[in-house]
Amino acid sequence: MKNIPYARQTVGKDDTQAVVDILRSDFLTQGPAIERFEKAVAAYCGAKYAVAVNSATSALHIACLAAGLGPGDLLWTSPNTFVASANCALYCGADVDFVDIDERTYNMCAQKLMDKLLKATRKGKIPKVIIPVHFAGQSCRMDEIGDLARKHGITIIEDASHAIGGRYKGYPIGSCTYSDMVVFSFHPVKIITTGEGGMVLTNREDLYRKLLLLRSHGITRDPARMEYEPPGGWYYEQTTLGYNYRMTDIQAALGLSQLAKLDRFVARRTEIAARYNRELAGLPLVLHWQDPDGQSAWHLYVVRVDAGQTGKSRREVFDALRARGIGVNVHYIPVHTQPYYRRLGFRLGDFPAAESYYQEAVSLPMYYSLDAKEQKYVIDILRQVLA
Ligand SMILES: *Cc1c(COP(=O)(O)O)cnc(C)c1O
Repeated sequence: MKNIPYARQTVGKDDTQAVVDILRSDFLTQGPAIERFEKAVAAYCGAKYAVAVNSATSALHIACLAAGLGPGDLLWTSPNTFVASANCALYCGADVDFVDIDERTYNMCAQKLMDKLLKATRKGKIPKVIIPVHFAGQSCRMDEIGDLARKHGITIIEDASHAIGGRYKGYPIGSCTYSDMVVFSFHPVKIITTGEGGMVLTNREDLYRKLLLLRSHGITRDPARMEYEPPGGWYYEQTTLGYNYRMTDIQAALGLSQLAKLDRFVARRTEIAARYNRELAGLPLVLHWQDPDGQSAWHLYVVRVDAGQTGKSRREVFDALRARGIGVNVHYIPVHTQPYYRRLGFRLGDFPAAESYYQEAVSLPMYYSLDAKEQKYVIDILRQVLA
């Protein structure tokens, strides 16, 4: 029986050695590996500053706080995402709303965003923060979204949890060219991993300073940033309410070692996607349209099952693949349809493009170490199932 998951990490001897080196060193946390990892990711992306944290969820939380999001404020994101992209608003006491997706990219639709902003302007309820999510690794139309945000004085936080190693209009995702902050996830199913981990990138020094404080209890040890004269070398000051969202040096060392392989990882994922595109082209499936302005990092490879053409439901296709040892998955159950969000007042039908996409979506196996034989098996079984 095959067992091919939809995603998995690739950890090599170099990664293991990097972690062992830290275990034998003086610092397991708050040591020098963190800053090395932050500098390396910032340099890779062409951003000025990076703050490593223990997850992308924490990264989204402190990014929202740094943007000043609080009670009475509003945050908009995509309904086609993991719940964390919306929950971060609720952590801050703010309200959430969603902007429906584009039918081809499954990303937040820039046109629908423009329409919704027009209506919101008339009602005087403009969001303070918008979180576009680069679904499956493909960038949103960040030039258009960035323009709209600038016009309305809205802070943009890109949720690029799927997208490190991708590009948009020639810029690496993470460059913050069209946004105030960008968030990455290093969970093992993502492009590179630190076990658990996340990062916020920004080009703005004011946000960077806030993020550093929020990551670690709101505490500073820098006399230049203190309110009182330090009475001695032991002194530190808590100047705001922060958290313990720190990444360990063990994780940062793994991240650094993984980052060195990022381009190779994305190149292989791109090959796997190209083969799926070629060999699935004739089947009754809708393949994921790719915007020529971007290059996806291919976190996910999603197909839509066209029930009208196949006579097979998504459920049947999903179950048949699972029964043959293929760990297909579904990304995403629209966030506003979750029971918790329904209790906040959202209803089925609120975001019809995300809902109808969800009815048909299946994520096929996509990861660096998926070999040619395994991919052939996936394609052959899918052909049989749809026949
Ligand atoms: C994985 C993911 C997150 C959360 O990442 P963690 O590092 O697990 O906290 C947030 N947003 C999106 C779009 C994700 O895919």
